[in-house]
Amino acid sequence: MRVLGLYKDIASPWICATVYLWALELRAVISTDSEPVTAWLADCAAILLTLLFWILIFCLPIALVAGFMERARARYLNKLAVKACLIVITALYFVRWLFTLQLYSDEHDVGLIALVIAAAGLAIWAFQRRRTRAIDLESNLPSLEDCFSFAALPIVIGAVVLIGVRVAGDAALAQKHATAVAFEPKREVRPNIILIVSDALRARSMSLYGHTRVTTPNLDRWSEAATVFLDAHSNSTRTPPSMTTILTGKLPWSHGRLTKVQPSYRSDENLLRLLRDHGYFVSAVTSNEDASINLLGLRSGLSEKETTTFEHLTLSWLRSHGVYPTPTGGRMYQGLSRFLWFLGYPGHTSFYGFAGDTLKAASDFVIRAKRPFFLIIHLHEPHDPYDVPLSFRGRYSIQSAANKRPEISSDHYGHYEAALQPAVDFYRDQYDEAIQYMDEQLAIFFREIEKQMPGRDYMLIFTGDHGESFERGFMNHGEELFESSTRVPLLIRFPKQTQGTKLPGLVQSADIAPTVLSVAGIDLPRWMEGRALHPDKTPQSEATVAVNFKDPVGQKTFDLPTKVAIWSKSHKLIVACDTGRVSLYNLAADPGESIDLSGTAPTVRKDIENSLKSVLAKQSRGRSFPCAINDRSG
Ligand SMILES: [Zn+2]
Repeated sequence: MRVLGLYKDIASPWICATVYLWALELRAVISTDSEPVTAWLADCAAILLTLLFWILIFCLPIALVAGFMERARARYLNKLAVKACLIVITALYFVRWLFTLQLYSDEHDVGLIALVIAAAGLAIWAFQRRRTRAIDLESNLPSLEDCFSFAALPIVIGAVVLIGVRVAGDAALAQKHATAVAFEPKREVRPNIILIVSDALRARSMSLYGHTRVTTPNLDRWSEAATVFLDAHSNSTRTPPSMTTILTGKLPWSHGRLTKVQPSYRSDENLLRLLRDHGYFVSAVTSNEDASINLLGLRSGLSEKETTTFEHLTLSWLRSHGVYPTPTGGRMYQGLSRFLWFLGYPGHTSFYGFAGDTLKAASDFVIRAKRPFFLIIHLHEPHDPYDVPLSFRGRYSIQSAANKRPEISSDHYGHYEAALQPAVDFYRDQYDEAIQYMDEQLAIFFREIEKQMPGRDYMLIFTGDHGESFERGFMNHGEELFESSTRVPLLIRFPKQTQGTKLPGLVQSADIAPTVLSVAGIDLPRWMEGRALHPDKTPQSEATVAVNFKDPVGQKTFDLPTKVAIWSKSHKLIVACDTGRVSLYNLAADPGESIDLSGTAPTVRKDIENSLKSVLAKQSRGRSFPCAINDRSG
């Protein structure tokens, strides 16, 4: 009993400190892009609950140790520690804000102004209260009731109501859909459709696309009865923009989700919603938060809650009730991680699922789902940190002194010094192992669905959301638009297909959604920009584009893309949008993109520049798209 009472005494001021810290971090939400109010309210509550959870655990050993002390002394020492902590937090935030102000002094930081006003209001309120009410003058700390009634309680109540509304909404949605399917008139049988997107899988590292290592033996075999598109490119090299393109058939400029941290695309103009409205049972299994259908903003197209195989919040039960950090909530987590590393941020929030678990969940869905269904599967493999089960480790990667470099880690993102190439090669070997692991899991999944859907009366699409670079001094993905980063696999087994074929011709991620619709017998809406692909017709080469935007620094969103690339027949042009630097390659003669022809082939360059300008003019749809190529005359 004594320890319990002491635990309450110890925990109370820490809870106040937690609420204070949390309130400071709310600035990240106020000052950034718009999310629906309900979404960021849920974020705020989830983060607060997670903080409280950890602080209560943190106080437990302190209370146990303090049990050996005199109670008053323990309380006094504890309060001193809390005060010191509050001072450190305040100082750290103050420095951080000064830095932010200095960095963006030309912009009005709405969040900061709001916070200063709120802090001033709070100080006046506390001062008045102290004058009018006799309170414990020994302590300068607000009471537990103050903390809760002023800041935490309204949010906690709001969150509980919100979670209730969401759960009820999900139940109503499922009910409505069940009724809709029951009364669906019997039409010709429509095929089930499975879309598998592998994260960061580049074509050149697959034996199917010519890699000398046999990394994808099972996909090689499986594709003998499928159409392999040899020249497929993703339209962006970051996960959320690329996934949004795959699931909408819109190019990045049109759907507007240009960077990872921008607000999600929220519109019913998407593939999921179309299929659901036409009687398909739509669901998803995802293994990485960036590809979560919920976080992509496409939740309204689902017929049931998506299955996730990653851990998202420390209190992950919140996720099963639909509470996900939005991009702004994610930033709050990141901000807090700078101060609360010891509490387990952000490791507890960004786990990803393994292919084995993801595909097992997908198999379970295929067994139980209503027909016809559309299932989206997002595989985290072979994305960094290139983790695989031990039996796969060491097949290609050999630990040596040369590649053990502390300067670079497997999740390094960006440019590296030439001297670090051995370490980068080591990660590329691990990447190949991750592909092999995924390929083996896919074989199990393919066998399972053959059993469930004999006669091959289903469509299966396999692709990557973007590639991965281990060359040219750039590791990971984003920024660069060389073939390593953009060229992805695209394999489609059309319903009842038994003959395989390999087709040349440029295709892009935006072509996937129209292809799905054509197989489902649904008319293409005008807002889709890709074109439907056929099992044995070579796609007519059309100008295909990919774009990259820098991720924002702090909370400033770049409206300028890093680079734009355009492919036209055998040539490829890359434009650095900020500097206007242009590189031109002839991929047929120089697949390694080593000879820049921008100075020596002026006619080709001019032609392809013009086609880029016309593509950009078409895509920007009235919005001005800032890229140096647009400003150049001629
Ligand atoms: Zn990705």
